[in-house]
Amino acid sequence: MSHFMSKQSKTYQEAVEALQKLLLEEGLDHVQRAAATVTSPELKRVFIETGYTFSSGTSCLARLITGKGCPHSYYHPTHQGTPHTAPGSDHTFLLLKDGKPCLYYTQPYGITWDTLVKLVACCQRHGLEAIIDSQLSWWFPGKTLGIAIRAKEINV
Ligand SMILES: [Zn+2]
Repeated sequence: MSHFMSKQSKTYQEAVEALQKLLLEEGLDHVQRAAATVTSPELKRVFIETGYTFSSGTSCLARLITGKGCPHSYYHPTHQGTPHTAPGSDHTFLLLKDGKPCLYYTQPYGITWDTLVKLVACCQRHGLEAIIDSQLSWWFPGKTLGIAIRAKEINV
């Protein structure tokens, strides 16, 4: 019996039974980790198939805003008002399309109201927008949010 899959194959049913056994023996955390172990690489692969590449440089939000290199240092963490990270960032990546920064990507375990307000303000200040969707997260799927930040009104 499932709320999520009406027509179940034998393999699907066996996987569900294995996860139910794991739940009883080791708890919810291990079930989520097992499921994420399977889904994480696939979610990342599907994302990359859309034409993105990972930047080998610093995952810096200013690189997306300015199109230039990371200007930050320990002594100048907000160089000329450009932030290095978006509020609430965790497990960040900078993705390129056609060799240029086009997506700042963060996958936090959650986001508080205050952090969300700061994120919106940061995006508005720098002409960005954020898409928040659990389907975008490949860093521990089921536990993290995927937040994709991009220049406003650009089709990605
Ligand atoms: Zn930076």
